[in-house]
Amino acid sequence: MPPAPSPKRKSDSQLVDTTSSPSQSKKPRLDDTSSPTTTTMPTETTNGTTTTPAPDSHINPAAAIAYWSSTAPTVDGVLGGYPQVSRTDLQGSSNFLAKLRRASKQHPPGPKLKRAADCGAGIGRITTGFLTNVAESVDVIEPVKEFTDVLESGKEGVGEIVNLGLEDWQPDSDAKYDLIWNQWCVGQLTDAALIAYLRRLPKALSLGGWIVVKENLSNHHLGEDVYDEIDSSVTRTDEKFRALFKDAGMKIVTTEIQKGMPKELYQVRSYALQPI
Ligand code: SAH
Repeated sequence: MPPAPSPKRKSDSQLVDTTSSPSQSKKPRLDDTSSPTTTTMPTETTNGTTTTPAPDSHINPAAAIAYWSSTAPTVDGVLGGYPQVSRTDLQGSSNFLAKLRRASKQHPPGPKLKRAADCGAGIGRITTGFLTNVAESVDVIEPVKEFTDVLESGKEGVGEIVNLGLEDWQPDSDAKYDLIWNQWCVGQLTDAALIAYLRRLPKALSLGGWIVVKENLSNHHLGEDVYDEIDSSVTRTDEKFRALFKDAGMKIVTTEIQKGMPKELYQVRSYALQPI
């Protein structure tokens, strides 16, 4: 059975408790004709060798948007049936940023950051529960309008709302973000699209600003990324993330595992990146 949307259960072989799966029961199924169901089916090439399609080659943005558009605009919806992890997650993010700021020349602890972006923001769970506490203005980038409609426009600290996928988002030419937060959404982008996206960001980053990527990690027994047909996304390995960040011209400033998550879920890792 494929894992559920973010946050996601580990693959079944890794589960300690396989008796309950709250996120599986309420989840709509995608049309299988538009969404391949496996990452492991070998295909024969013309010279007779067999190759396995890369997990991210199955990503279908239309299927992803269809899935998310049919998901309730609630914390339960965007967290795939695990709303109870939100508090731990937001506290962990707040501690992570505090650690980054303590080591920063340009953005040391003190006044709020000027401007942040919440990318793949869903209903703005991170915007309202964390980013508006630490930044004067938070822009929200999210392709599904039904999600951002939940955010009151003009709500304290909420800046521009942009209804685009990250593969299509081009930050304003004069925008300078101190923090660009990407959580539980970069799996919707192919490896190439993620690299291209990250390469667009340095121009939109203030001096000493950070790009944070906080995502599930694949625990595949052969160390492979895992395609999820439900939301048409990939769950990447730590090694893959590091390789992609390098290809995108980013260095990892600080990285840590989110503590306190339920053990049946994938591990979640935060990476703070800066251009090399
Ligand atoms: N980051 C939020 C939402 C996570 S749910 C949070 O942690 O609460 C995943 C989100 O990714 C959904 O809101 C979904 O609409 C969004 N998404 C889907 N495709 C995307 C894309 N191509 N670019 C950016 N976000 C995408």
